[in-house]
Amino acid sequence: MKTLVEHAKEGELTRPMEEVAQTEQIDPQVLVERIALGSIIIMRRGQRSVGIGRGLSTKVNVNIGTSSQKIDVEEEVKKAQIAESYGADTITDLSMGGNLPEIRRKILANTTLPLTMVPIYQTAAEIGLETMDEAHLLHTMREQAREGVSSFVLHCTSRDTLHTLKRSRRIMGVVSKGGSLSIAYMLLHHAENPFLENFSDILKLLRRYDIVLSLGNTMRSGCIHDPRDRAQRAEMRQNTELAKRAHEEGVQVIIEGMGGHIRADRIPKYIKSYKRSSDFPLFVAGPLPTDIAVGYDHIAGCVGAALASGAGADYLCYITPAEHLGLPDAGQVKEGLIAFKIAAHIGDSMKYGLPEGDKKLARKRANLDWEGQFRYALDGEKARKMAPREGPCTMCGDYCAIRMMKNLPDILEKG
Ligand code: SF4
Repeated sequence: MKTLVEHAKEGELTRPMEEVAQTEQIDPQVLVERIALGSIIIMRRGQRSVGIGRGLSTKVNVNIGTSSQKIDVEEEVKKAQIAESYGADTITDLSMGGNLPEIRRKILANTTLPLTMVPIYQTAAEIGLETMDEAHLLHTMREQAREGVSSFVLHCTSRDTLHTLKRSRRIMGVVSKGGSLSIAYMLLHHAENPFLENFSDILKLLRRYDIVLSLGNTMRSGCIHDPRDRAQRAEMRQNTELAKRAHEEGVQVIIEGMGGHIRADRIPKYIKSYKRSSDFPLFVAGPLPTDIAVGYDHIAGCVGAALASGAGADYLCYITPAEHLGLPDAGQVKEGLIAFKIAAHIGDSMKYGLPEGDKKLARKRANLDWEGQFRYALDGEKARKMAPREGPCTMCGDYCAIRMMKNLPDILEKG
């Protein structure tokens, strides 16, 4: 069976492509060409198709999942459902505690969004880093692929890049969990990266199930004082080469990069430099432009993600208020998602021009039409709880600027 990339390379427009072209209001032929070139991918699950990449709206991913210290499957299912109902584009299950296949199956059964997995999480949690081997990793990937996941994140850091990292003067070292698990495995087993060692077989598996490969960002900075160093540049070069290889084999691919913590003025610069060197869709975690917003990292992340999206990032991984502090609860998942939906929306207004929705909301606001405003708001339900049913709100009360200015012509006429 042909993969989506192979269909596109032959100029064939398939149903997922038609759906994405319609949702995104993009010429179907342009979409086919961009999939063929690798600058757009479509993440699919069942009837749902989510396009990510050049010329498309910025997408938002929500991470959920248990940890070894907090296992509440129903809460994870609730988080997944909240993510879906508040407009997440994709979900990633990062569970490492409890019965992992059962958690994944419950998430799959209760949502329709494309689901991403990081296979080393399950393998390390079930087998243990010391006893697991490459065969265990491949077994996990086959199991997850058969169950219908849409994408895998693989951290492919080579031993060469690890040597480069040793010379780096970072405060935070490596802060990617998937990346640190891969590195720990390599060091414990005196081995090369297991995903690199088995890359051909992995591509065959991804090709067979037409699963998107997301190349992980192990080397991202963990604080704004950690600069983009040689290790980051080496990882990015390597991921771009791996992406080319995957795409040649008919596998859709995303590159994760420019995420983590980056000082604000450098975010657009870094994103633009990536976009000049590679056209594969860019997936960005955060980035956080400050380290001091603990407890409010979803707000700091929203600022960084808006800058990143506006400069060309295609896909954002959200951050919740619990970032750096604990596993988020369902309410915090919602807060983080809304913050990143705002970032994506602002980014799109920078990339593609002012959105119609903002104009429609402004018109309703100018008429003090509260219900009308809620229709176009990202979270109308929350806004409704704070607003009056009609007339001015309690902010200015009798001195409502909007009402005064509306009445002004009458006042002038009477005067
Ligand atoms: S009272 Fe003030 S804040 Fe409220 S709608 Fe009027 S101008 Fe806006």
